[in-house]
Amino acid sequence: MTAQKGKIVFCPQCGKEGIWDKENKFRPFCSERCKLIDLGNWANENYRVPIEENKDIPSNDESN
Ligand SMILES: [Zn+2]
Repeated sequence: MTAQKGKIVFCPQCGKEGIWDKENKFRPFCSERCKLIDLGNWANENYRVPIEENKDIPSNDESN
């Protein structure tokens, strides 16, 4: 009998091989560090998104 291990995945952050296993809570990342780095990248990107959508909405505050 062969114990089926998780399949190999490549960490999106550092490209290192990792095992996709339910016990690997950082998947698809290889480690917590890579996961945090990726989350940090997302946070920075969100931070950079200017709030411009409101410009298209006419302000009706003074209509009444
Ligand atoms: Zn990694």
